[in-house]
Amino acid sequence: MNESNDVFIARGPVLIAGAAINGSTVDIAVDETGTIAGIGEGIRREHDADVIIDGSDRLAFPGLVNTHTHAAMTLLRGYGDDMPLQEWLSQKIWPLEAHLTGDDVYAGTRLACLEMIRSGTIAFNDMYFFMDRAAQAVDDMGIRATLAYGFIDLGNVEKREAEIKATESLVTRIKSLANPRIRAAVGPHSVYTVSPEGLSWCADFAREQEIGIHVHLSETEKEVVDCVAQFGKRPAAHLDDCGCLTPRTVAAHCCWLDEAECRLLGKRGVSASHNPASNMKLAVNRAMPYHWLKQHGANVALGTDGCASNNNLDLMEEMKFAALLQKFAWNSPTLLSAGEAVAMATTAGARALGTGPGTLIVGAPADIILLDSRAVCNTPLHHADSNAVYACNGGAVMTVLCQGRVLMHEREVAGEEEIVREAAAAAQALVGRAREAA
Ligand SMILES: [Zn+2]
Repeated sequence: MNESNDVFIARGPVLIAGAAINGSTVDIAVDETGTIAGIGEGIRREHDADVIIDGSDRLAFPGLVNTHTHAAMTLLRGYGDDMPLQEWLSQKIWPLEAHLTGDDVYAGTRLACLEMIRSGTIAFNDMYFFMDRAAQAVDDMGIRATLAYGFIDLGNVEKREAEIKATESLVTRIKSLANPRIRAAVGPHSVYTVSPEGLSWCADFAREQEIGIHVHLSETEKEVVDCVAQFGKRPAAHLDDCGCLTPRTVAAHCCWLDEAECRLLGKRGVSASHNPASNMKLAVNRAMPYHWLKQHGANVALGTDGCASNNNLDLMEEMKFAALLQKFAWNSPTLLSAGEAVAMATTAGARALGTGPGTLIVGAPADIILLDSRAVCNTPLHHADSNAVYACNGGAVMTVLCQGRVLMHEREVAGEEEIVREAAAAAQALVGRAREAA
């Protein structure tokens, strides 16, 4: 067994020796519970660590939080691109998803976790199917996740009963795991796929269970127009009338919100998940009104969306997309600074999912990533946030700790080859089954 394997197995105290935070070189001590116990110079002398990680030439950042994913869609990466949304869904995505199994979701979610770890993400907010198998993958990989079953009733009473059962059983299953890294949420898909009765049930159940709500909101103009035609109000007001806008709610996309809806999200303490790469790829034709959401106090976080519409889970890249799209769409070079992009991916994400403060402070969970300060993208190093957002991608992340456990060290993740091989085989078999049935 080589030295780097010990790093992955160790469960005791960890010391990151001599890493840079905001320009100063400090040691970071992590206790056996995975909490940051000390940050400062000279801590290493008094700290009794099982694992010492050399922090020289490393910049320490809080681990990143991806607030909107469909993780197992990694299996659909690159299967269909450059198509109109409806055609893409009906010709490519849905025919394949119809053949998806629990084993596929396990393999695809493990691949997603691997990809997120390799690009500095330590927590994600997921909505999909076979979520008990997603939970198993998350458990294996050591990352954090909030998992929701994608609730879609299409106004059909029988389907609603089935979705209620599926949601209840997932929440029971996840609570029974008693893994503090894995939480359940309720996942009403959107106002155009879930009836008002279904949305109200989701809101009530989430409140009873004290868990989050994960919903798509105002991704396209069609969603807004149809919602107004059917219910006489815009999507955010409709969700609010059904009780779905709460401080535990993460609303993905939010592209077509008007200012009154942004004010409503702020008032309700909702987290909005900005998904710039997916929005540009699917040409939703409007960028999230970040300035209004910020002005009205909504918590604006960052997400990649599923791998079929991105096509990766690299939140470092997503920070750049967010900062660039906002500037371009709203014609303002000062909108969404590098520092704000980092905050969206760290503190705002952590607040959205309730995973801690999302900063490197004593008492916080040791969710820490180390970037290579000698990498080309970090040279010269005038501003660490600027380089992280505008110059680097996930390839600059060298080491990842989640709750004090080392998930990647010097770009090595335990079991990586097998995870990639199994996911590739699962994706190939899935396409084969779909072709046979067609
Ligand atoms: Zn989505």
